[in-house]
Amino acid sequence: MKTDVLIVGAGISGAVVAEQLANRGLDVLVIDKRDHIGGNAHDRLDAHGILIHPYGPHIFHTNSQRIVQYLSRFTEWRAYEHRVLAKVGERLVPIPINIDTVNQLYGLELDETTIQAFFDGVREPRDPIRTSEDVVVNAVGRDLYEKFFRGYTRKQWGLDPSELASSVAARIPTRTNHDDRYFTDTYQVMPRDGYTAMFSRLLEHPRIEVQLDVDFFEFRDRVQATHVVYTGPIDAYYANCYGALPYRSLRFEHEHLADTTQYQEVGTVNFPNDYDYTRVSEFKHLTGQAHAGTSIVREFPEAEGDPYYPVPRPENEALFKRYEALALQETGVTFVGRLAQYRYYNMDQCVGAALKASQYVLEKLGLPLDV
Ligand code: FAD
Ligand code: UDP
Repeated sequence: MKTDVLIVGAGISGAVVAEQLANRGLDVLVIDKRDHIGGNAHDRLDAHGILIHPYGPHIFHTNSQRIVQYLSRFTEWRAYEHRVLAKVGERLVPIPINIDTVNQLYGLELDETTIQAFFDGVREPRDPIRTSEDVVVNAVGRDLYEKFFRGYTRKQWGLDPSELASSVAARIPTRTNHDDRYFTDTYQVMPRDGYTAMFSRLLEHPRIEVQLDVDFFEFRDRVQATHVVYTGPIDAYYANCYGALPYRSLRFEHEHLADTTQYQEVGTVNFPNDYDYTRVSEFKHLTGQAHAGTSIVREFPEAEGDPYYPVPRPENEALFKRYEALALQETGVTFVGRLAQYRYYNMDQCVGAALKASQYVLEKLGLPLDV
């Protein structure tokens, strides 16, 4: 079998590269070892007709107009601003921590003029800021750190925040206002007909062929491709020759509640201190779907299983760099995406990385960029 470009992985990274290359006249074969497209951002109707995200809640948010414009060629959008409450003691309070979080927890009446003085009074200044513990205690002090971050992070990563790069907890800001949105990006939208519909349109091109249930490592000898774009875990590509890169996994427990129209007040409730799961998400909030019942998912972090998260910490970055050095020597293979680049990418960052990788492949194959 022959093709111009073989793309390993039909997730958002692979789908964007496929679309870009096919549009420049290349024949593209996309394979995925799963039985569906969309990678971890895949969505589908459950047995009760509710649109769910089998691999956990996915909310699209970005500051990049270019990326929204690009994806808008493949989907209409629905405006959606995600809100999250955290269960601390018996209360459900907003996370990221804002004025209302502090007031509700401590029975205070702070406002925008007094909240920073409160944080200044409780914070433990750290310099330099290297770990996720540093980030949080430096901003809000030990008590809020222990109420919201320590237990959640230990559960999610199997590591103490002091063992994780600062970038992990830095994803969650501290607010000195009443803004209770989880994200503050300029664009916060969901694909109107779902992610899988958007990916189907990306992949709908006469030059793109998609084959599912195909594992690259079993298939590679049967295909001749001028170039390979690989979006799986980078260590697997090199048969773990330097040892396995740690990835964190999750077990998802989905539940349908036939007689409940709304299970919880917001899209996601975090459980920093109770239970073995980190959070519960209710899909109808995200999708806006009307249905008499509702479907929820609980996320149980696990060490083994499908790779979902790279684990950002210095020793892992050093191991990744060794694999990356091998990857940089390849002339016929490009590595892109959350697993191949070992980056804690959101979907928009995957799109950005995939657009960049597409340009690189086109240049490599000596093709003009704007045919
Ligand atoms: P993937 O989606 O992992 O796709 C890679 C594909 O390659 C997979 O389908 C896999 O089966 C395939 N593959 C791997 N190895 C092989 C092989 N040997 N042969 C064939 N196929 C192979 N991002 C957001 O922007 N907003 C969110 O709200 C959000 N929530 C998230 C919640 C969870 C629980 C998780 C885990 C992630 C979340 N993300 C979110 C991140 C988002 O899922 C990723 O950024 C994005 O889906 C990664 O796309 P990708 O194509 O790089 O990788
Ligand atoms: N985090 C936390 N408590 C929370 C929310 C987040 O400790 O209530 C930390 C935790 O380490 C988590 C990280 O911040 O893994 C990033 O959170 P985010 O919600 O971005 O995680 P994701 O949606 O990527 O799983």
